[in-house]
Amino acid sequence: MSVSAASGSGARARRLRGLLFDKDGTLFGFQATWGGWAADLLERLAEGESGVRDDLAARIRLDLDARLFDPGSPIVAGTVDEAVALMLPALPGWEFGALRARVIDESRAIVPVEAVPLAPLLSRLGQAGYALGVATNDAEEAARAQLAGLGLGETFPFLAGADSGHGAKPGPGQCLAFAAEAALAPDEVAMIGDSTHDLHAGRAAGMVCVAVLTGTATADDLAPHADAVLPDIGHLPDWLGL
Ligand SMILES: [Mg+2]
Repeated sequence: MSVSAASGSGARARRLRGLLFDKDGTLFGFQATWGGWAADLLERLAEGESGVRDDLAARIRLDLDARLFDPGSPIVAGTVDEAVALMLPALPGWEFGALRARVIDESRAIVPVEAVPLAPLLSRLGQAGYALGVATNDAEEAARAQLAGLGLGETFPFLAGADSGHGAKPGPGQCLAFAAEAALAPDEVAMIGDSTHDLHAGRAAGMVCVAVLTGTATADDLAPHADAVLPDIGHLPDWLGL
């Protein structure tokens, strides 16, 4: 499937009533938001020990000079717990819970780089009657703080993190929880994301799956798992036929 083949509103797009968004790489540009933040965090955790810093970077597959993640990094679509488990062996003085709390605390203050201007897009989609939600593998509290910092604290009636009690992607729990809360059938909802985790979660829930290319994955990576591939979420109104 090519990007152009996904444009226009098909029958599946026309019957959609809910839109469930992944956060990082979908609402937020992934590398611009997280690459530099992660490089700075590793510097602080290493406390001046360059060997520790480099070990941490190798473990999470972060290029410290470019301040960019390797597209294959498990961090791209992983949970906070997975990131902490990867880093912990490089930090002998730390235990899991303390490191997890530190990472979440630091991520609360991140300055997200919007993939496209979010407020006008989301207000247009909301006014068109779509139920809006967020399903992220980040921690719920950090996700709420990041969205509130952009003035979007009230935009999503539903927000689930990996720690919200619905499981994490690629499992379907967050997707099914959104459909239930919005009183929609799963096939009336599109799961929109930048990674195969998002598309597998949406597929397992019986949703329409829309891939966007504002993360690190390519159209070739995502197309086999998606009903549509869009350059970014700014193309949703056209695809939905608004
Ligand atoms: Mg993502």
